[in-house]
Amino acid sequence: MPGTHPRELGLTADCESCFGLCCVALPFSASSDFAVDKEGGQPCHNLRDDFRCSIHERLRDRGFPGCTVFDCFGAGQKVSQVTFEGRSWREAPETAARMYAVFPVMRQLHELLWYLAEALTLEAAEPIHASLRRAFDETERLTREEAGTLERLDVSAHRAEVNELLLRTSELARAGLKGTERRGADLIGARLRGARLRGANLRGAYLIGADLRGADLRQADLIGADLRGADLSGADLTGAVFLTQAQLNAAKGDTTTHLPPTLTRPTHWTEASAKPTQTPRPRSPRHPSRGRRR
Ligand code: SF4
Repeated sequence: MPGTHPRELGLTADCESCFGLCCVALPFSASSDFAVDKEGGQPCHNLRDDFRCSIHERLRDRGFPGCTVFDCFGAGQKVSQVTFEGRSWREAPETAARMYAVFPVMRQLHELLWYLAEALTLEAAEPIHASLRRAFDETERLTREEAGTLERLDVSAHRAEVNELLLRTSELARAGLKGTERRGADLIGARLRGARLRGANLRGAYLIGADLRGADLRQADLIGADLRGADLSGADLTGAVFLTQAQLNAAKGDTTTHLPPTLTRPTHWTEASAKPTQTPRPRSPRHPSRGRRR
């Protein structure tokens, strides 16, 4: 329950229990993230009959790095096993459209649950734990609504309510650190090597391709920050607030990057190297990375 880290609350993808929803429901465009175009509702050609990805071990080599950085926060298995009670879109094609419509709503709810659960682990947020718990319980209740209710849910309004609490949590977690204010900042390709960003507000900042090698990002609020291609080699992310595994998966780093204990080092991160790394320019700061992570 709240107070437990989100990883232990079923808020991470369990692809074994999912009907490959992110590989079917979501669209993607041919780009550096995906090798082909795919319409929403159309199964990816790499999706097998057993809902497993046939190129899972080679996604990056085969031109699908976007699939490795998507995180459904456990929404896929919730929709598959709870909302649709274990009947797949293959078994019951008449439910497919509704299932695909519910999935993105559920993903947003589960993402909120992740953040709320993390907030409830923070001692600094103790003054608002009661409110955070209520928001967690209400969000969890919504995830158990039936498909029609979820389809009609004003998830944006719910997000806005929860966001007020997450903002307050962030303020409490960063209190006294005098962190720099860079909310939503355009820091694409920025040279921030060794930057002192402890306690910084980097909510929603565009850090695509930024050079953050050796940066001090302790207790920085990174909720929604776009870290695609950012170089975190040697950076210190200890205590970073609202950082997710998907953000790390989209970034670069190495064995000297300090991570919060609840997140894991992506397998594609390189060994620490003395060689300077390049900071790629992005195609688009808002391009969604979508795919399937197993
Ligand atoms: S992980 Fe990506 S490539 Fe594999 S089936 Fe899913 S969408 Fe297709």
